[in-house]
Amino acid sequence: MRRNADELNKMRRAGKVVAEMHEVTRAAIRPGITTMEINNVAAAVIEKRGARSNFLNYHGFPAVICASPNSMIVHGIPGDYVLQEGDIISIDCGAIIEGYHGDAAYTAGVGQISKEAQRLLDVTERSLWAGIEQMTIGNRLHEIGRAVEKVALAAGYGIVREYVGHAIGTAMHESPQVPNYWPGSPGPIMKEGMVFAVEPMINIGGEETYTLDDGWGVMTTDGSLSAHFEHTIALTDNGPEVFTLA
Ligand code: MG
Ligand code: MG
Repeated sequence: MRRNADELNKMRRAGKVVAEMHEVTRAAIRPGITTMEINNVAAAVIEKRGARSNFLNYHGFPAVICASPNSMIVHGIPGDYVLQEGDIISIDCGAIIEGYHGDAAYTAGVGQISKEAQRLLDVTERSLWAGIEQMTIGNRLHEIGRAVEKVALAAGYGIVREYVGHAIGTAMHESPQVPNYWPGSPGPIMKEGMVFAVEPMINIGGEETYTLDDGWGVMTTDGSLSAHFEHTIALTDNGPEVFTLA
């Protein structure tokens, strides 16, 4: 769906709230803090900016962020898990302003992390930006996944296939989906005013996943580390505009 200037403005504002949530949660990440404490600093931003959370109560999800450490890929429920030196932690969150949504994620190291973990973070973030570069008017949607895949596979990593990016607007998850791999067809033509959340989830090991008994946390089956970077991006005649940057 194409969004008009007024709608894009609301999404821009929602994106700024998400960017601020990223800023404050990044600043809070350190050994000894719990994932619930990180959730609470993000919730304070939602409150301060007069926004609403699109994560809280989403199919019953109990928090405003997902916090997914180490071999957890996505959808971790914040709680009493205490971050340890050397962990990596994926934070995914969103906000609604006047009915319009933003959604973005990042993975950060806790204190000093291994070279292998740092490389995973660097490659996953780079794969996101390679995907964003494909967001030009007239290009095909699935070129995003092709570009993401190229970066991840060159590094020897596994690309999660069961969870993908999505269009976003008056709902967080709209059609069409945005796969992080080439799905075998070019997909729809991208047009001015379309907005997508692009979100590669990349594992050091294989692509297989399983879900925890809590019904939320998604883990790598082989126990390898996983990273997740996401932005909400609009197609404009000046190229992609990333709404969820500070
Ligand atoms: Mg997200
Ligand atoms: Mg998303």
